[in-house]
Amino acid sequence: MYDVIIIGGGPAGLNAAMLLGRSRRKVVVFDSGEPRNRWSQSMNGFLSSDGMNPRDFIQKGRAELAKYAVELVDVVVESATYTKGEFVVNDVDGNVYRSRKLLLATGLKDKLPELEGVEELYGKSVHHCPYCDGWESRDKAIAVYGRERKGIGQALAMKNWSDDVTLYTDGTDSLRRDDLELLERNGVKVQKEKIMRLEGKNGMLQYIVLSNGEKRPQQAMFFSLGAKQQSDLGEQLGCEFTNKGVIKTRRLQHSNIPGLFVAGDAARDMQMVIVAAAEGAKAGVAINMELQQEDRK
Ligand SMILES: Cc1cc2nc3c(=O)[nH]c(=O)nc-3n(C[C@H](O)[C@H](O)[C@H](O)COP(=O)(O)OP(=O)(O)OC[C@H]3O[C@@H](n4cnc5c(N)ncnc54)[C@H](O)[C@@H]3O)c2cc1C
Repeated sequence: MYDVIIIGGGPAGLNAAMLLGRSRRKVVVFDSGEPRNRWSQSMNGFLSSDGMNPRDFIQKGRAELAKYAVELVDVVVESATYTKGEFVVNDVDGNVYRSRKLLLATGLKDKLPELEGVEELYGKSVHHCPYCDGWESRDKAIAVYGRERKGIGQALAMKNWSDDVTLYTDGTDSLRRDDLELLERNGVKVQKEKIMRLEGKNGMLQYIVLSNGEKRPQQAMFFSLGAKQQSDLGEQLGCEFTNKGVIKTRRLQHSNIPGLFVAGDAARDMQMVIVAAAEGAKAGVAINMELQQEDRK
């Protein structure tokens, strides 16, 4: 019987494990090794570790946990249930684990544009988050991908980082006259032609090839198509979700299920490493406080 099972060993899960380990709790962290930013070479916007390789960041975090009673198990968790104050967790190898508290820190996975060539460029010159990668794309020829009217906001936002921004609507023609006027007033170019493929070298976008054969030079692309939960464990446990597909949490990462906490991208808040780690720390403290209350004689 563990005090706490943590599912997900990204920044949220590891930071929670650190606080719980430091509180002398018996903790196990399960991780399937697929953090959301694994496509990227640099983790930006984290004070003291700006630009660090995300894999190095995780390795450093795991090494720091070695001195605490925290077990790290690299396995996929398949199912989790809660009955009468006890969580039961099954991994894919058929092992069963029990705990008093459970933290879900399983993160999200992104929906990519369905474009030939996108996977080789994703995380290097094709991005979804301007706060993570806008600086590195500054003053470049930036494409924003958004079918119908979905790219307007991001195209306008990217003017923050470059004067050269083009919105690609990929064969759709839903922009209204006032949209076009707004984009033009703010210096955003619009390209409605269907995209055939993206071309680049060593992960760096060079051209967007259109269905009319035109090759348009572009150095970076941003998109915003949303993300979904990386695991269905929140659903299995009966968590409440927002209409954006993230789990509803209260102030200290409590979910609607007693003893179940959710931290990081899987939960409602800004989706950045430093926020995920902070939520993990909050959850770690809140879980320990609950255990203290329950054990008080
Ligand atoms: C391409 C890209 C670049 C990014 N760049 C930045 C950046 O520069 N700066 C920044 O602040 N943010 C960046 N982000 C966002 C950042 O990746 C997330 O905010 C952060 O990873 C969230 O941490 P987390 O711990 O919630 O989830 P994750 O880091 O996604 O970790 C979740 C972990 O849970 C594990 N897991 C999931 N399901 C199971 C299961 N069933 N069993 C066992 N383990 C499971 C996964 O394998 C994973 O290791 C980027 C995201 C992407 C996609």
